[in-house]
Amino acid sequence: MERYQDSKLYRIRHSAAHVMAQAVLEKFPDAGIAIGPPIEDGFYYDFDLPRPLTAEDLQAIEKRMREIIAEGHEFKRTEVSADAARKVFAGQKYKQELIDGLEQGGRDEYGNPVEGPVTITTYRQDKFEDLCRGPHVANTREINPAAISITFREPAGAYWRGDEKREMLTRIYGTAWETAEQLEEYLNLLEEAKKRDHRVLGQKLNLFLIDPLVGKGLVLWKPKGALVREALTDFMREAQREAGYWPVVTPNIGNIELYKTSGHYPYYKDSQFPPVEVDEEQFLIKPMNCPHHCMIYKSEMHSYRDLPLRLAEFGTVYRYEKSGELSGLTRVRGFTQDDAHLFVTPEQLLEEFIGVADLIKRVFGTLGMADFRARVGKRDPNSDKYVGDPAVWEVATQAIIDACQRMGLNYTVEEGEAAFYGPKLDFIVRDVLKREWQLGTVQVDYNLPERFELEYIGQDGQPHRPVMIHRAPFGSLERFMGILIEHFAGAFPAWLSPVQVMLIPVADRHVAYAQEVVRKLKARGLRAEVDDSTNRMGNKIRLAQEQKVPYMLVVGDRDIEAGAVSVRLRTGEDLGAMAVDSFVDMLEGLVKARSLSLLPDKA
Ligand SMILES: [Zn+2]
Ligand SMILES: [Zn+2]
Repeated sequence: MERYQDSKLYRIRHSAAHVMAQAVLEKFPDAGIAIGPPIEDGFYYDFDLPRPLTAEDLQAIEKRMREIIAEGHEFKRTEVSADAARKVFAGQKYKQELIDGLEQGGRDEYGNPVEGPVTITTYRQDKFEDLCRGPHVANTREINPAAISITFREPAGAYWRGDEKREMLTRIYGTAWETAEQLEEYLNLLEEAKKRDHRVLGQKLNLFLIDPLVGKGLVLWKPKGALVREALTDFMREAQREAGYWPVVTPNIGNIELYKTSGHYPYYKDSQFPPVEVDEEQFLIKPMNCPHHCMIYKSEMHSYRDLPLRLAEFGTVYRYEKSGELSGLTRVRGFTQDDAHLFVTPEQLLEEFIGVADLIKRVFGTLGMADFRARVGKRDPNSDKYVGDPAVWEVATQAIIDACQRMGLNYTVEEGEAAFYGPKLDFIVRDVLKREWQLGTVQVDYNLPERFELEYIGQDGQPHRPVMIHRAPFGSLERFMGILIEHFAGAFPAWLSPVQVMLIPVADRHVAYAQEVVRKLKARGLRAEVDDSTNRMGNKIRLAQEQKVPYMLVVGDRDIEAGAVSVRLRTGEDLGAMAVDSFVDMLEGLVKARSLSLLPDKA
């Protein structure tokens, strides 16, 4: 499959970003221009503007973009020296800073780290020139003026370089497609996504909060959110137990020497919380669980007969993210990984990969995310940044590909996508809105077993190095919960719902009976509550529906007489009266089967 960066759509969007910047500069000649990269579903550009933009401004800018497109300007690439670039962008302080970075090396035109030497190039269309390495379409006419749209998104601002101590810029988002129909379909999905925003639903459904007094990017799970999370981790624990994993538990901080041994310090220093000192020793707030699991492996002698050893932990880790980049549950500073490390012999790699891929496939299938593809990341043959023997890498990469084939997975192989310490397999899941999320990373590692000098005694009686596999199907539980909330629009299947059943007594005299039904449900491990408020029945039903409670059981005189409940679904469906025991049996069956539907399949 073609990479997005190599696609026509990418060139169109990148070019539309330049056209947008031209239109903005024509309107505000003194505006500062920062960066304007293509992104997953469009592009954005950050501007330093003399005043806040209005909806009318956006309309005018969009209109001017269409004119520029129709004028048919060519995109012209020029290689320039840093000094020449400084002259081209005279008076543009953000560009000057980016040029400094380009000249020093190791940074691209967006200020992001890159490898290798950088040639400074500009692209020009009409009178607008931008610091840019391309690629672009040849002529603005290749952009379809009926398939572009620009907009604000929350938050409408972004800090320069993501740093809250720097200037706050206005970010204008845009999107561009090949046809007007594609644009319309996309805008409809965006509208739907807004309704499903996990930050909005998280508050409305009382699932979680993030409070600056606790700390930016640190999530507090409220009882209802924690119940969903617990159902999810129970599910994963069960799947792991069946697949032969062992649980382990490790602390939230570790001596800095541990991370120096693993190489996580100082290599990943920029993404960690700085060390804390206690009794003249330095400790890191745990950025990853792997070193701890290596020490557990190392604490005993192992024979090839004990392997594979699979150690699993819901390990909470803390990483430093720039405050400007924090967002809801998707970008946080503290999160829990559904982490596991498998210590295997080289001969076991294929079998273990199949096991891991199978587990991930089952987990996503159960959650109704059966639409996924796999991506095999192999080494870049022209780079020497990798550790380990290339021949050994070849065997592992082939094992991953074989596993994908044996599992019948839809997969692609991408060169240069491996980590420096081993090849990997990523699962890319599409949610109901057809948005792709990278989840379920599986990583082969030759580096940590070497650094920790891990061993097992082989069939030959000699010590050998095991291979390590890191895997986390959900990745971060916080981020995954965010994805799940949006995937289900807050209407979780019964087994994940924090409140599965709401009892709605018609009048006060029915409350005792409702409580009795709740006791029966609770005795079977089900989650039920009584709405004994003074609200009218219609209101109670509406409130429960808004809270996305799957089942509402209305109880009145006739239900009590018949030992029944009147069952309504949150979808509005009215199932009529049902014997209490039959309802409890039905729900218990659906929850145990982790069914996605609220009613048993009609067989
Ligand atoms: Zn560009
Ligand atoms: Zn790991």
